[in-house]
Amino acid sequence: MNFDFADRVERVSPSATLAISNKASALEAEGVDVVDLSVGEPDFDTPQNIKDAAERALEDGKTGYTTSQGIPQLREAIADKLAGDGLDFYGPENVMVTPGGKQALYEVFQTIVDDGDEVVLLDPAWVSYEAMAKLAGGRLTRVDTAQYDFRLEDALGDLTDAVTDDTELLVVNSPANPTGAVYSETALEGVRDVAVKHDVTVISDEIYKEITYDGAAATSLGTFAGMQDRTVTLNGFSKAYAMTGWRLGYFAAPEEVVDQAGKVHSHSVSCAVNFVQHAGVEALENTDDAVVEMRDAFAERRDMLIDLLRNHGVTVPEPQGAFYMMPAVADDDQAWCEQAIEDAHVATVPGSAFGSPGYARISYANSKDRLREAVARLDDEGLL
Ligand code: PMP
Ligand code: GLU
Repeated sequence: MNFDFADRVERVSPSATLAISNKASALEAEGVDVVDLSVGEPDFDTPQNIKDAAERALEDGKTGYTTSQGIPQLREAIADKLAGDGLDFYGPENVMVTPGGKQALYEVFQTIVDDGDEVVLLDPAWVSYEAMAKLAGGRLTRVDTAQYDFRLEDALGDLTDAVTDDTELLVVNSPANPTGAVYSETALEGVRDVAVKHDVTVISDEIYKEITYDGAAATSLGTFAGMQDRTVTLNGFSKAYAMTGWRLGYFAAPEEVVDQAGKVHSHSVSCAVNFVQHAGVEALENTDDAVVEMRDAFAERRDMLIDLLRNHGVTVPEPQGAFYMMPAVADDDQAWCEQAIEDAHVATVPGSAFGSPGYARISYANSKDRLREAVARLDDEGLL
């Protein structure tokens, strides 16, 4: 059969982060010991109280479909969490619960972006934004922050030039994947100014909000004057609560956005998994200590890895959040990453996958021993 594939799938490539992590798993299946610093996934198990809540929910028969938008208890708990972030204008009616933050983003792109609409990304940008924009028919304009060591406040002039009345959607992700940058108030005010001036919808992807270091705080974009009605706030449970495989996320937005996205949602996934939603309520209400413990562990690893890399003369801007860093590795970052996995058996993701050649993304959600091992192997292969 000669399939005539739809243009929209021909326009995109598979997720680079997942492809490299699959490659690492395949090598491991052949018996190779790979230090996998590719996929962005906490190496911790989900906290026990969350697992217990899921078991209780299963025993209580929470196994059927739920209301499409998500169970009211979870939407209430999410609205409370968001109020704690200064977003007190969201009620449960503004919240859509989805199977993972990725699905939430996908629904929002499908809802906002039409064929030919311009989507502005801040590079380096997480791999799936580009694909989601293209799947929706959008065209991309990219603003480079790498030349400013990932400091958005220094890139505001470029952002101001890039965003015009033709721009439909701007995506902001702080703390950022892949750089770990946490955007300052000045930077976010700059975003607000261009968004308001050109009447642009903004996705604020706050999935790493709970993971910041040295007292840095990732302010929610929706708290800035003028942003409430134009911001879609995105978050999920994967990163803060080590729940990647549970697939639970959400977005909060003005009700008309939720209503329109609800069509994509109900016709694609129907609802998020019932007992997982109950576990989500427990996560939000009773898991603060575990979140702090994981964050402290990430902070120690970050400090250690920065020191190790800098001792080898590697240039790496200090991340203030998430669990990624983005060292400058080689002009041909793809070749560097290829050699890193093939020869040193260390899996990383090339910066070009995020729109920033010359860098590699390292996820330090791994033990200190494995991080030391990774640096030693890269050094042995002459890659540092
Ligand atoms: N946004 C960013 C920036 C991410 O890195 C991820 C990780 N996959 C997501 C959204 C979505 O995560 P999930 O689907 O696991 O909630
Ligand atoms: N967000 C993580 C990453 O960037 C998970 C993989 C993915 O969904 O891309 O590695």
